[in-house]
Amino acid sequence: MNKTNQSRRQFMATTCAGTVAAIAAGAIPARAQMGKKAGTLAILGGQPVRSKSWQSWPVWNRDAEEEMISVLRSGNWFRGRGTKVSEFEEKYAALMGTKRCLATSCGTTALLVALHTLGIDAGDEVIVAPYTFIATYNVVFLTKALPVFADTDQETFTINPDKIEEKITERTKAILPVHILGLPADMNKINAIAKKHNLVVIEDACQAWLAEYQNKKCGTLGDLGCFSFQNSKNLPAGEGGAVIGNDDEIMDRCYSFHSCGRPYGSVKRTSNYPIVGSNRRMTEFQAVILMSQMERIEMDADTRLENALYLTSKIKDIPGIIPYKLANGATRSAYHLYPFRYKKEQFDGIPREKFLAALKAEGISCAGGYGPQNKDGLIEQALNSRGYKRLFSEKRLKQYREENHLPDNDQLCKEAVWFGQNMLLGDKKDMDDIANGILKIYENRDSLV
Ligand SMILES: *Cc1c(COP(=O)(O)O)cnc(C)c1O
Repeated sequence: MNKTNQSRRQFMATTCAGTVAAIAAGAIPARAQMGKKAGTLAILGGQPVRSKSWQSWPVWNRDAEEEMISVLRSGNWFRGRGTKVSEFEEKYAALMGTKRCLATSCGTTALLVALHTLGIDAGDEVIVAPYTFIATYNVVFLTKALPVFADTDQETFTINPDKIEEKITERTKAILPVHILGLPADMNKINAIAKKHNLVVIEDACQAWLAEYQNKKCGTLGDLGCFSFQNSKNLPAGEGGAVIGNDDEIMDRCYSFHSCGRPYGSVKRTSNYPIVGSNRRMTEFQAVILMSQMERIEMDADTRLENALYLTSKIKDIPGIIPYKLANGATRSAYHLYPFRYKKEQFDGIPREKFLAALKAEGISCAGGYGPQNKDGLIEQALNSRGYKRLFSEKRLKQYREENHLPDNDQLCKEAVWFGQNMLLGDKKDMDDIANGILKIYENRDSLV
């Protein structure tokens, strides 16, 4: 008996006890039995596994409406005239277990503040995780630096630390790992490489509120950690972001940069505008929403964790379904998304897109996730620009193009399947629906070929 069959049997034993003895004895082909039971696929006109909708997002409990109205009526809408943004920063720093937090207008601007403050300059190179939301690439380009991709570890969905060192050049200044989908990157290895090569580490924790690595919060493991509070995120405010850190001097410079380069703390008033700055400030309204949303974030995180572990237990033995694995040292995901890899070989070669369509038809909302963005249009657009041609030699840009091959990331982009964080806020019955939807497609895969 091969491994697949064995795990298949274990799966059957927990889902379908009545027929298991006969199947184990080899008397009934497992697939035929289950196929009959599960019925016609919804995409082919059958009854869907689920007709209920999923938890809508964001959730608003009216608890902050009075406070919102009072800020509105006060006219103190900007942090310089109000207290809400500062209050939020204190609360978020405490939640993260870090000394300081700077609220920003969004996650993209949080990353820009971090890159700028840590001295990433035009013509520098930054090692970036390729499997991420596009903002991670964009901020490096906006800083006029070169995002150099290190391949992805398909099992953990995060940057493969063993692929980082080969990408370091004399121009490399930073590593930008992403705790993507809420899954912590292998920070011990990344920090060790950074130390060895004298690089700074900026964590893109824009999907990783309350995720943990060796029981420390993601965002507190590198030099600076960046968060997003965009509408879809687990801590939403429409738009919003934060940079967190423990170094007062660096955090003072972050503050100064995010508010037009005005003096702040250790950024002394040697003149009115001692450093170059920008406006990346959060409004008082965003902070009011965030403090209200923070009341539920820990409870939500526990619910997602419990449901994710349960869902994994239900689907891990379905052939061709490989749930995410935590990286070495990672102790907790934030479950912004629940991911697994879909191996079409075990599904009679049915392409992932067809699997996704069939699963959606069963009432199970799902997505295929990121594409191979390292080959997306923005790369050539930037490399061909006048600025980049001035900043980087023809030889370097040629080599960059030649080395921009990420076979593991390409494969992951073809196989990933995601479920949204809102789905994980349901109960066990909701997780059963997801598992049953996948199983139904597996059992009836021959009807899709
Ligand atoms: C959302 C997100 C960002 C950008 O945040 P915005 O608030 O949308 O600007 C950056 N990186 C990752 C991984 C994200 O998911």
